[in-house]
Amino acid sequence: MAGFPAHLVREDLRGFAGYSSARTSAPGVPARVWLNANESGLPNAVDPGGASRRYPDPQPADLVEAFADLLAAAPDQVVVGRGSDEIIELLVRALCRPGGDGIVVSSPTFGMYAVSAHLHGVPVTDVPQSEDGLGWQVDAAALARAAREAGARVVFVASPGNPTGSVVPLRDLAALADDLADQAVVVVDEAYGEYARQRSAATLLADHPTLVVLRTLSKAHGLAGARIGAGLAHPDLAAVLRRVQAPYPVPVPVARMGVAALAAEALAATRRRVMETLRLRDALGRRLRGLDGIRAVYASEANFLLVRCDDPDALLHTLASAGIVVRDVRNHPGLEDALRISVGSAEEMSALETALGETTS
Ligand SMILES: *Cc1c(COP(=O)(O)O)cnc(C)c1O
Repeated sequence: MAGFPAHLVREDLRGFAGYSSARTSAPGVPARVWLNANESGLPNAVDPGGASRRYPDPQPADLVEAFADLLAAAPDQVVVGRGSDEIIELLVRALCRPGGDGIVVSSPTFGMYAVSAHLHGVPVTDVPQSEDGLGWQVDAAALARAAREAGARVVFVASPGNPTGSVVPLRDLAALADDLADQAVVVVDEAYGEYARQRSAATLLADHPTLVVLRTLSKAHGLAGARIGAGLAHPDLAAVLRRVQAPYPVPVPVARMGVAALAAEALAATRRRVMETLRLRDALGRRLRGLDGIRAVYASEANFLLVRCDDPDALLHTLASAGIVVRDVRNHPGLEDALRISVGSAEEMSALETALGETTS
């Protein structure tokens, strides 16, 4: 694997060691009696096995390995955290000087990139996507130009995108990373990767050391409440991200759940749920395209549909009367008439179907 350009990391953090925690300060000591972290000597009654009595490993080895296996990567390339949201935060923190280096996004896109940037005092440059009524296109060459002009250190691309549902071709992502190899890290957020036909950008990592891939157990894996996400990066960058992370990001019960969700049988069940979701999504798409007042239903490679309608307020109202909440995305520039509808269970989809019947009468 080629080297990671150290100058992309914030200068003041290059030699930064981070917090020395109880779990990391005595590596390799063959200890039998741990008296170095002020933990209780006895378990709490709510934790009879005592699994949570001690601070967790900052990067639970079995969870890290499970993600590495999933993505055909090495464990030293993996950073696990509280959802991919936390990895987004770590990337901005590690790569952008507060008040200085910026990030580049391509709207409409996931809001957390700009939120993380804002919280770190980092400017955001937007290169809007184009659309043709069927799908959305990210202009990789324009992103590269904007990143250079703005002196940005991170480019965030969601693929499949949220709220667009569109996929960015791997060759565009590879070209973007090559284009910006001396300027910025290119982050491919694959929160919906399990629903996409294209293979993961993780397959590009060996040849593109400045690429980062984000994955999460929040969407297809059905564990949004557990808050488990991972970043896949060059080992040098992964090491920096771990050093700027909070000391014990992954709670013991959460790490166990994550490991269980990434075991073969659970993964097979997730793949079956994904197939069912795709079937329900395509049925919903057909239904929506046949409705009066729907202007566009974009092709989606995720578990939601982005739709434009003549009267979004009326549709929101009809659905709300049936107790159904969909995402109002009209605050995104260029989506002033749009809603995003998640694909839920078969029961939820038939409730939606029934409510949509009301809109035509
Ligand atoms: C939902 C979502 C996430 C958030 O994932 P967590 O792992 O739950 O933090 C990240 N990126 C995109 C594009 C999303 O839609």
